[in-house]
Parts: sequence; structure tokens; C-alpha cells
Amino acid sequence: MTRRLVSAFVLVALPLAAMLTVAQTHMTAQQPSAPTRPAAPAPPAPPALSSSGLQLDALDKSADACTDFYQFACDGWIAKNPVPPDRSGYGRFDELQERNNDTLHTILETAAAGRDPEFKKIGDYYASCLDETAIDAKGAGPLDPLLKKIAALSSARDLAPLVAELHTIGVNVFFQFGSQADFKDASVEMALADQGGLGLPDRDYYVKDDAKSVELRAQYVDHIAKMSALLGATGDQAKASAQQAMAIETALAKSALDAVSRRDPNKVYHKMSNAELQALTPPFMWNRYFSGIGSPPIYALNVAEPEFFKAFGQLVAATPLDQIKSYLRWQVVHASAAVLAKPFVDENFGFFGTALTGAKELRPRWKRCVQYTDNDLGESLGQAFVKVAFGPQAKADTLKMVHELEAALQTDIEGLGWMTPTTKKEALVKLRAIADKIGYPDHWRDYSALTIVRGDALGNSQRSNAFEFHRQMAKIGKPVDKSLWQMTPPTVNAYYDPLENNINFPAGILQPPFYSATADAAVNFGGAGAVIGHELTHGFDDQGRQFDARGNLKDWWTPADAKSFEDRAQCFVDEYAGFTAVDEVKLNGKLTLGENTADNGGLRIALMAYLARNPSSALAAGPSSALDGFTPEQRVFLGWGQVWCENVRPERARMLAQINPHSPGHDRVNGVVSNMPEFQKAFACKADALMVRKNQCRVW
Ligand SMILES: [Zn+2]
Repeated sequence: MTRRLVSAFVLVALPLAAMLTVAQTHMTAQQPSAPTRPAAPAPPAPPALSSSGLQLDALDKSADACTDFYQFACDGWIAKNPVPPDRSGYGRFDELQERNNDTLHTILETAAAGRDPEFKKIGDYYASCLDETAIDAKGAGPLDPLLKKIAALSSARDLAPLVAELHTIGVNVFFQFGSQADFKDASVEMALADQGGLGLPDRDYYVKDDAKSVELRAQYVDHIAKMSALLGATGDQAKASAQQAMAIETALAKSALDAVSRRDPNKVYHKMSNAELQALTPPFMWNRYFSGIGSPPIYALNVAEPEFFKAFGQLVAATPLDQIKSYLRWQVVHASAAVLAKPFVDENFGFFGTALTGAKELRPRWKRCVQYTDNDLGESLGQAFVKVAFGPQAKADTLKMVHELEAALQTDIEGLGWMTPTTKKEALVKLRAIADKIGYPDHWRDYSALTIVRGDALGNSQRSNAFEFHRQMAKIGKPVDKSLWQMTPPTVNAYYDPLENNINFPAGILQPPFYSATADAAVNFGGAGAVIGHELTHGFDDQGRQFDARGNLKDWWTPADAKSFEDRAQCFVDEYAGFTAVDEVKLNGKLTLGENTADNGGLRIALMAYLARNPSSALAAGPSSALDGFTPEQRVFLGWGQVWCENVRPERARMLAQINPHSPGHDRVNGVVSNMPEFQKAFACKADALMVRKNQCRVW
């Protein structure tokens, strides 16, 4: 649904993943007997860890750690793990997610066979999604009711209730609507209207005029036309309709804020009354929209980007109804494609999988259905997951590490030469107020109001989307419930929420290579410890620092300290802007600033926390404490390095450089260690080595 203002450890969900991974289903099948399932390929084996907890065969010891530490930490893994044909990239996160998904697969097969009544809903959902034969037999039929409603639209004044209906089931036409804490009073949820309505991953795709962008747009329009043809349009109709839809998306994109601007909370916070919103968009009947979505009474809302909504109103006023219908039809089929009949799935994959990200083959059906079940019923599936994959030891260990990391960050802040005592005091108030959430929610989501019907995959998906939409709507005007999670337990990721001032670590990431109960502490601190440090420092990055201990958008910095912060942050902007993503494409230093700051601060305080726990292993301790030939400090750095090994197709690298606030694995490793004198010492690098930057950047 609506993008939340959170800082995750890796990219949460690609906009294109709306197509490839999010279930917006369609389907049929009445038979209770399970369809024939192809045997699942063997899942990736858990990494073979040495006594230190490192995966030694991931390393390339022939490389020089001081010249290219990423190569040293990862080239063994990289050589053994080419990108599978059904992926656009493959890294340690994906490897772990595959293992988690295999656990989910077993859970779902059991649930689908009806052997576990507690998990009937996830079993029915999964079995319905798997039944391709029944889905294919229905063709585009399941879309008929929606397409008829679009055809019946007789005036722009009637657009609002139709948009409300589409939003409810997950078709995000024109804009996004949801709930979010009020930036200026983060204890209360308020309605949020945000930019949206695009099919491509970001507004820049519509406006950039380099050759690749122009080519992709042509492929995209062709894709829209092909989808239209699958719905029955003739060749010329399909082409005309695609141009019409593209013209609307382009107009929306041109009035949308770019990704860097959206990092500034002040640019996406505009509290308005209903009447003010209505005045911005005269032709769109907001009262009819609000009654259509079934929200509680709305008196005020955050209209994130007023200019966007003003342009939306003008667009509705100026665009012929037939053209609006073309756009709505396209968005409906687009949102449903992944779970429609095979021709839709294949065409959808051809553009969003192959053209946009370089994947060669569609992922096996069961893998897609596991993912859709996690998206739609994640806290039911996650309950089963944590029973088998996350024990009390892992939770206790992680909590201990979190407390050690918090203590290290406190020490770090207290010792900062560039920050004055006044701001330090406020920073420590904020640090102490951070709440730690580990593994899974204290209270599981209650899905009893959600109906899952065996054999109705599309209906299941639409009802799941409606369940989630209504769950968000029901929050409006109520106190913020900080115990809720925005990621499911099996997810290999983590996040900091600036509006709630809490850090969240799903059980899915607290596994090897990030954390292992049997690993030496050094490697766990370099992996899971640095993830924790990363999330903690997000509270103090270019975005997070603008919110106070309670999550309110409030400046607690003295002007001089803010200036010092910005000067130091600029060092990261310049450093990462110098890194190449692919071909002529460089990283965007401003887009990635928050994540790069968090990586740099995270590893530093992870090392501090490790050394605080093991003071005897300080840098001078010598080889006596070596394991697998590496000193404790070296193992902390290798623990960090080895979680970032990855292979990425060029198409995906190009896309991520444009939309991903995180840097590629190579730069997350080398960009960080080359800023750390501790690394130079640990590996005895010469002063002129490539991994020793002349101008070392540091904020935390
Ligand atoms: Zn992050």
C-alpha cells in the first residue's frame, strides 16, 4: 500500500515487484484435491561455516584485502553463485531468503494438504494460487466485472467511487491513499494522500531522455498494447489505448516529486482540511471517494505533494473520458497480471522481468505462490515460520547485541568532537527512547475478518488487499500502535521507523550469514551487529535526524551542529557519487546518503561494541586470538564483507542506481572500510592502498 517513511536495510520492494511478487490474483478451481506439484529443486544448503563462523570458501585469499576488500571477502562466493536464469541478481540476502522460502514451502504444502487446521487459510490461499490449470481455464474472465464498471463510467464526476473501489483491491490508479503517523504529532495516525498511479518504477523513467530510457519507454508502451490486446483489443485499438494510458502516466510523473526530494520530510508533509484538498482538485469528488473507501470521518490529511494533486485535478478536467478508461483498464490488468492466465503472466514478465531487470526465466510457480502468501497472510505464515526457524536463544542473543550496540552508539556520540553538548544531550535522549523489536510481533495479526476461498485465487488476492486497505483505514484518527510490524517475520531485511523511533529485526535476517548461534562473536558483530548499528544510526541520518525522540518532525539541533553534520554528510555524497553502477551510470550520492551514513556508522559501532565485549582482543592482541588465520578485528570486517557478496545483471544495476537508496554490495563494503582507520590497522594496509581513502568520511 502506501509507501511508509521507513529506512530499511536493503530495498524493501521494487515498484516493479508489484507485478512480479505482489499477489493481485485471479483464479479458479473448485477441486479440493491438490494439483500435481513439480518436485521442488533442492534448496540452497546452509552455508558451511568454519569454527570462526566465516564461510571460508566465500573468500578469495589470492586477492589483496587492502586493494579490493570486497573481492577478498566475496570472490569465492561470486564465482560459485552466478545469477540463476529466473533472477535479475543474486546475493547473500537472496540466498538466505531462498532458504527461508524453503521452510515456508514445507509449511504451506502441509497446510495445503489440510493437515494443520490452525493454518487452513494460508493452505487454501497457497493451493488456490498454485492451481495454474484452473487459472488458465478462466482466461481474462475474472477481470470482466471490473472492466464493465470502467466501461460504464459516464462522467468524470463519477470517477471518485470507481477509484475508491480500485484502491481498495490494490489497483493504485492516479494516487496512493493510506494512513501514517502525523509528522507533527506522531502519536496519532492520519490519512495520507500521496503521489502514485505509475507503472514504471519511478517518475524519472518518464522524463529522462538518454537512449536507454527512451528505449525502455518504447518497450513499455508496446507492453501496454500487448496487454490490451490480450483483453481483446484489435491491433490499432490496442496501440492507441497504450498511447493514451502512457500520456496519463507521463503527466502524473511530470508533476511528481523525484526520489531525492522525497527524502526531505518537509517536502512531503502538507496537512490540509478536506475542503483544501477539494479546492486543489475540483473535478474529483473527495467525499464520494472517502465514502467509497469506507474510512472513518476524515477532517484533515497529509496531502504529501500538493502540486501533484493540483496537476491530477487538471488532468481529470482536461482528459477525455475514453482516455481515462484506457488508463484504468491498463492499471487493472497490470495490477492483476501476475496471477492471471499464462499469456498475461508471460507478457508481464517479458517487460518487468526481462526488459527492465534482465531476468531470463519466470520463477517456478511455487516460489511465486510462497511469496504471494507471505505478502498477503504474512503474520499467519510467519507464526508457523518462527516456530521452526527462530528459537529463544537467537532472540536473547540478538537483544543482548542490540543493547551493546546502543551502548556503543552512546559512547560514540559522547565522544564526537564536532557536536556540542547541547545537541549531544538531545541525541542521547533520542537514542535512549529507541524501542527494540526483534523477531516477530508480540501480538499476531487477526485474519478472522478475511475470507479465503479455496479455488478463488483472484478473489483471495483482492480480498486480502481489501483487508489490508481497511486495516490501514481503520487506524485513521487513532493512536499509533507501535507494536505493529511493517515486515513479515521471514523477511531478510530490517528497518528503522523515524515516526515511531524503533528498530525492527525480522526473524528472517537473524540467520547465517548474519547471525549464527555457533559462530564466534566477531563474525556475528560484523554481520547482525552491523545491521543493528545501521538501523540505530538511521535515527540520526539526514532524514532521521529531523525527527525527535517521540517521532515528531522537530528540529533539535543547534544551527552550528546541523551545519557540521551537513558538511560531514557531504563527504559521503561526494564519495559515493564517484562509484560506477554500470556502464556510464554513477550512483546518486544524495539518494543513497542516508543508507551510506548508516552503513558507515553501523559498522563502526558494531566494531566498538565487539571490542567492548572483548577488550582483550584490542588491536594489539596479536595472532594468539586468531581463528581461521584472521584476527578478531579482521573477522568483524569479514563478517560485514561476506553478507554483501552478489552478482547483478546490468539491467537491474541500471534500475537500482535510479531508484534504490542503498548502494550496491561492492560499494557497501569498500565504501565503508576505506573510511575506517580501524580497517587499515586490522589488515596492515599501507597509507597509499586503495582501501585507505585520503579523505576519510565520518559522521558517527
Ligand atoms: Zn537502511
